[in-house]
Amino acid sequence: MTKKERYAFVLNYFETYAPNAETELIYDNPYQLLVAVILSAQCTDKRVNMTTPAIFAQYPDVYALSKATFDDLFPLIRSISYPNNKTKHLIGMAQLVVEEFNGEIPATVPELIKLPGVGRKTANVITSVVHHQPNMAVDTHVFRVSARIGLTTNATTPLQTELQLLKNIPTEKVHIAHHWLILHGRYTCVARSPKCGECGLRPACKYYAQLIKAN
Ligand code: SF4
Repeated sequence: MTKKERYAFVLNYFETYAPNAETELIYDNPYQLLVAVILSAQCTDKRVNMTTPAIFAQYPDVYALSKATFDDLFPLIRSISYPNNKTKHLIGMAQLVVEEFNGEIPATVPELIKLPGVGRKTANVITSVVHHQPNMAVDTHVFRVSARIGLTTNATTPLQTELQLLKNIPTEKVHIAHHWLILHGRYTCVARSPKCGECGLRPACKYYAQLIKAN
C-alpha cells in the first residue's frame, strides 16, 4: 500500500465512522475553550470538565479572570496536575488578552503563543476547533497513532509529525483529522495494548501488518 492509499483509507474510514468527531472538552466560547485547553496539559479531559464549571461560574469572562488573585483561583484548580503553574498561566493569559488584545481571544497561532501557558499545540487546538483553521495539534495520541499506522515515517518530534500530517491531509480535513487521531488513540489505539482486534484500520496499519508477520 502506498502512502497515498494509506492516507485515503484512513481518512475515508474516519469520515464514514466518525463524521462529527469533536473535542471532549466542554466549553461555550473561545475563552472557555482556552481555559480548558490550558488546564488539559498532562491531565485528562474528564478531570478538566469536572473542574471548569466552578471556574466559569466565578470567572465568566476574561475580564473577570484577569482580576483573579492566585489565592482565589488556586483552590478551584488544586485537583488538576501542575496547579501552581496553571493558576499563574490562567491569570497571566487573561491579563495579556485584556491588555493587548482588547479582551478578545486571538485567532492566530503567532498571537496565541504570546500568551502564558499557550504553546504551539494549544494554539493549534484553539485555531482549529474555534476557527477550523488547518492547524494540526500533535499530542501524545496523535504522535503515537500516526506513527503506528504509518501516516508518519521516522518522526521523532511533534513538529515533524505535524508537518508530515499537514503535507498529506487535505486542508479542509485537517481540523477534524486532529480529533479523529486523538480519539482513536484514546479509545482504540491505546498506548500499552492497542485494541487491534476491534480496529477498522487494520487493512491500512503498518503496526498491525508487522504484528501479523511476526506471528
Ligand atoms: S490496527 Fe492496532 S495499531 Fe493499528 S491503528 Fe488499529 S489499534 Fe492501532
